[in-house]
Amino acid sequence: MKKKRVYTFGNGAAEGRADMKNLLGGKGANLAEMNLIGVPVPPGFTITTEVCTEYNELGRDYVVGLLKEEVEQAVAQIEELTGTKFGDKENPCLVSVRSGSRVSMPGMMDTVLNLGLNDDAVEGIAKKSGNERFAWDSYRRFVQMYGDVVLGMKPQSKEDIDPFEEIMDEVKESKGIELDTDLTTDDLKELVKRFKTAVKENTGNDFPVDPWDQLWGAVCAVFDSWMNERAILYRKMNNIPEEWGTAVNVQAMVYGNMGKTSGTGVAFTRDAATGEDIFNGEYLIDAQGEDVVAGVRTPQQITIEGSRRWAKLQGISEEERAAKYPSLEEALPECAKELIEVQQKLEDYFKDMQDLEFTIQDGKLWLLQTRSGKRTGAAMVKIAIDMLHQGYIDEKTALKRCDAEKLDELLHPVFDKKLLAQAKPLTNGLPASPGAATGQVVFHADEAEEWSKQGKQVILCRIETSPEDLRGMATAQGILTARGGMTSHAAVVARGMGKCCVSAANNVVINYKERTMTIHGKELKEGDWISLNGSTGLVYEGRIETQDAELDADFNELMEIADKYARMDVRTNADTPRDAKVARDFGARGIGLCRTEHMFFEEDKIIPMREMILAKDEEGRRKALEKLLPLQKKDFAGIFRAMDGLPVTVRLLDPPLHEFVPHDEKGQMEMARVMGISYKDIHERVEGLLESNPMLGLRGCRLGNLYPEITEMQARAIMEVAIELKEEGITACPEIMVPLTGIVHEFKAQKDIIENTIQKVFAEKNDSVEYKIGTMIEIPRAALTAHKIAREADFFSFGTNDLTQMTFGYSRDDVAKFLPMYLDKGILKHDPFAVLDQNGVGQLVSMAVQKGREVRPTLKCGICGEHGGEPSSVKFCHTVGLNYVSCSPFRVPIARLAAAQAAIEG
Ligand code: PEP
Ligand code: MG
Repeated sequence: MKKKRVYTFGNGAAEGRADMKNLLGGKGANLAEMNLIGVPVPPGFTITTEVCTEYNELGRDYVVGLLKEEVEQAVAQIEELTGTKFGDKENPCLVSVRSGSRVSMPGMMDTVLNLGLNDDAVEGIAKKSGNERFAWDSYRRFVQMYGDVVLGMKPQSKEDIDPFEEIMDEVKESKGIELDTDLTTDDLKELVKRFKTAVKENTGNDFPVDPWDQLWGAVCAVFDSWMNERAILYRKMNNIPEEWGTAVNVQAMVYGNMGKTSGTGVAFTRDAATGEDIFNGEYLIDAQGEDVVAGVRTPQQITIEGSRRWAKLQGISEEERAAKYPSLEEALPECAKELIEVQQKLEDYFKDMQDLEFTIQDGKLWLLQTRSGKRTGAAMVKIAIDMLHQGYIDEKTALKRCDAEKLDELLHPVFDKKLLAQAKPLTNGLPASPGAATGQVVFHADEAEEWSKQGKQVILCRIETSPEDLRGMATAQGILTARGGMTSHAAVVARGMGKCCVSAANNVVINYKERTMTIHGKELKEGDWISLNGSTGLVYEGRIETQDAELDADFNELMEIADKYARMDVRTNADTPRDAKVARDFGARGIGLCRTEHMFFEEDKIIPMREMILAKDEEGRRKALEKLLPLQKKDFAGIFRAMDGLPVTVRLLDPPLHEFVPHDEKGQMEMARVMGISYKDIHERVEGLLESNPMLGLRGCRLGNLYPEITEMQARAIMEVAIELKEEGITACPEIMVPLTGIVHEFKAQKDIIENTIQKVFAEKNDSVEYKIGTMIEIPRAALTAHKIAREADFFSFGTNDLTQMTFGYSRDDVAKFLPMYLDKGILKHDPFAVLDQNGVGQLVSMAVQKGREVRPTLKCGICGEHGGEPSSVKFCHTVGLNYVSCSPFRVPIARLAAAQAAIEG
């Protein structure tokens, strides 16, 4: 059977369904489904995502050949349902051509509206609509959009000028007009003429008059836009595979720009910023599809309630609001009523918060799109829990609905309340994306990137943002715009990124050229500090420090549900009592890695630590270790207290020694004084510690084997404290971990020292506690010989940082020299130090677990490399049967959710 490439829909029938997103893209699949459930949708068809891949592989001409017959039949169906004819002079059929991938990529790909217009068809539309101005306005928009998108006339850089905008400005200036809506029919006719001349001048070709040429041009342009730079960047940032491709949706046009009883808008069935269960959205009267998203005109609210709330935030009186910015419920009550019914129907049907696009043509409502709405992390949790309570979804679905990585937003800082109380608001705007941000003002996206690279905090300030600003937005702390609405580009993208954003800020005038901005007459220059509150929309002068976020009951409920389903425990990597407490509050079930060398960075410990490293002989080392013992005990006591009753894996010293010794003359002189030996001796000792490959040098258990007295001191500190804490009623559950084992004998030698020390402590104290002795698996040889090591070790903890380093042969410290290039070129899909390389490093993990459990079925296995808090890696850990993952405190909730999702997905 011939492969089906085109799926039609219209008039309550459809060839596709909502569950065909992979093939039809999100938009196409839901357009089909909306037809099936009786929502008014203009008829049309979807060209599948598979064709996009064929297009990229086989080329344009071949693919057009493949599609021709099916597309012609589908166009015939639109003609039949609308009673129009493609290319007809009297009754022309006009269509929109839009992209639509599996997941929405707002603003990243191209769209063409009003396709099918030419010098004849415009007359037909004028006659049919009885509105000549509307016909020519549509034609003007079409030539401009087609010229930009299909004929490649859109400026590629900030410096280039859009030829169409230039002509528009000239015409408006010559007529003394400010707004596009003030252009007369004659002005519009002149514009079309001049636009076409510009097309000829720029491209060497006439503007295509044949609607079929126009259609194929637009379809191919949408496929091409899948590979444009900003779409590629967006995919990379959101882990969207290139192979997915985009579908193309061709749909009969409906018009929001046919006068005062027409309009267009975007709406959310719940609040996308807070998750509250209130229908909300924005619309514009007498406007076309992209006008709301573009953020140029001030959009109005759909509901009266929303409109009043908006006016209050903007400082607009009720009289002014009702007169100038009425809600849709006031302006077109019948349409608003139908829209409210439709939104409820869609939410009930899809059982998720929907993001809708609609158009009203002459009093008739049409839905152009519905999709699961993008939302902030806070809204994601609230909607999942509310929908669970409201009976829309079950617990497992609630967990699956939440993106683990996005929880990060909830854990973000807010302003320090005391500082905030003293702060002076400069202005307010729309609370487009919540959170708090403070930084230095920059006006261009590339500068935001540049300054961020230099370690500066920046706030990107723009009149309005466009998809080209994406990179700059990603690196900025926050985004401020002078124009736009809650659904304009900046708001939607910032929300998706979890970036604080205030849009449409009042009385903000930005001068890009001078790099200045005035807010209520106060001038701010590039580099000045401002602070944004994306939850209230307030903009403050100066720098306001931030503090940790507070979590609410919905979050706690989600976490509790997660724990119910997760099979793996989540522990934390913590070296201080403070971090341990934060992690425990976030739900950590113990410490999976306490890096003891981190305890020695503090002022009071660095000197004896240096003495120990620089000591000439065992005697010198023992002297230094005696000083360190009480300090270590204090550290361990704090951590055991914070983790009372939960396991604490303490890793024996694993320092790159050279990092701990002074390299400057002053520091070396001080050590000479402290140790009572000559500067020359110290200097020589420091030089002697230099290694060509410190990461592969005297680290981990090699150090403990070379200087057993270090291991002895640490084992003693741990066990003495564990016993002493009993008096306080604290239960310490120490797990002593040997780092960097490669050979079982290395581990065994360390274990013997630890055991001997423990027995001595028990005898001295005449008491005992439970303990375990295990090892990290972070050297490939250890993974390969895991069955031997497991005979000796109580547990394995995978140190995937080192395991990645040694499996790839990439130095952890130097990888940045070439990694960005590898990622750019696609040689690597992810940074393997952030996302576990499941095919390579993962195989070693999986094999070591298996081999280890063959000889010790109860072997406890965990991971403590950075991957322990990364959702896809956590899921892998579940699959290979680890007992726990361990990650930094702020990643604990993310890992808990990811662990539950892994268990549900099985
Ligand atoms: C590891 O190697 O994965 C690990 C956790 O240890 P460190 O990062 O301290 O080397
Ligand atoms: Mg390591």
